[in-house]
Amino acid sequence: MRVGDRVEGQAGGGLTVDLDALVENLRFVEAAAAPARVGAVVKADAYGLGVGPVAGALDRAGCRDFFVADLNEALDLRGHLGDEARIYVLNGLWPGDEALARDAGVIPVLNSIDQVRAWGNLAAAGGPRAAAVLQLDTGMSRLGLSPEEVAQLVGAPELLDRLDLSYVMSHLACADAESGSVDIAQREAFERLRGQLSDRPTSLANSAASLSDPLTHGALVRAGLALYGVPPGPRAKTGLRPVVGLVGRVIQTRTLPPGTGVGYGLTYTTRRTERIATIGVGYADGWPRALSNRGAAWFQGTRLPMVGQVSMDSMMIDVSALPPDALKPGDGVELIGPNQTLAEVAALADTIPYEILTRLGRRYGRTYLTDVGREPAGART
Ligand SMILES: *Cc1c(COP(=O)(O)O)cnc(C)c1O
Repeated sequence: MRVGDRVEGQAGGGLTVDLDALVENLRFVEAAAAPARVGAVVKADAYGLGVGPVAGALDRAGCRDFFVADLNEALDLRGHLGDEARIYVLNGLWPGDEALARDAGVIPVLNSIDQVRAWGNLAAAGGPRAAAVLQLDTGMSRLGLSPEEVAQLVGAPELLDRLDLSYVMSHLACADAESGSVDIAQREAFERLRGQLSDRPTSLANSAASLSDPLTHGALVRAGLALYGVPPGPRAKTGLRPVVGLVGRVIQTRTLPPGTGVGYGLTYTTRRTERIATIGVGYADGWPRALSNRGAAWFQGTRLPMVGQVSMDSMMIDVSALPPDALKPGDGVELIGPNQTLAEVAALADTIPYEILTRLGRRYGRTYLTDVGREPAGART
């Protein structure tokens, strides 16, 4: 991929988002999920990549279904999409926000009987039947109606009569696990529960299930991680293109004699004469502090180990392996790119790619790449 070897503006680091790769990944998931539609999950600012440019590119590529976490995100997203786009709110609505959501044309995921009643009341007050998605809890114990609540709903058909249910959905707890056994149990629970309701289109799969288990596809899959180019689990089809590149810029370089302490707490001591570069990315930029003395940056194929604690706004790398003048102030070193994938960075930091992505800080210079070069300035966040 075309990792950003350049840094936009004056920032200490540069984030590159390849919008062509994003759209290719949409096509890849579409091919795997067909005939199901693919909905794009763009919650948390499109997993930290910038919801405006990301959702805009997906919208232009023909995606029409977008999932966010809450109404704030939905209201923000509305301005980035064409009129045909449907916006679903996964966490549902706070009590009292129903009219605001309706006026914005937003479709809530209803996660409880109370949410069903509140959304239906809006329609009962004279409006048309209100579009909604109904979520069933099939074993993850996070969101959605329990089997008892489904039974209650069956006993009170007037509650559903007021709704225009676009989909009945549920969410898989272990779609990215080695074994598919939990998926099977959840799928069976889903069939049992939804069988008690009138027949509606279904939505069950996230990225991992979209790329591994056709039996979960239903009518609409909900893909996040795969669109952003990260392989979503060991069973998933491979072939996604990386979307994210991250570069940190060298602030200064110093040569240190053996036995010199480096960084907060002096947790690293030079073993010989070493050249140490300080780069302008730190944990406030989402680079995991867990990678202190553990991670690395890359420059022209050479691994440059991180030494000392990651600071808030900077961190140190050992550049002794490079020729003395290879890195000058302002030059970039690769933090995420062809030599070091996002998934590898996450694994080394004992976390998941989702957390690395969503914590990418707001300070980076951001470049959105397309075939025709950079997006116009207006498309940047
Ligand atoms: C976040 C989320 C998704 C997307 O998950 P990915 O693993 O990123 O594809 C799908 N469905 C629900 C309910 C979610 O919360």
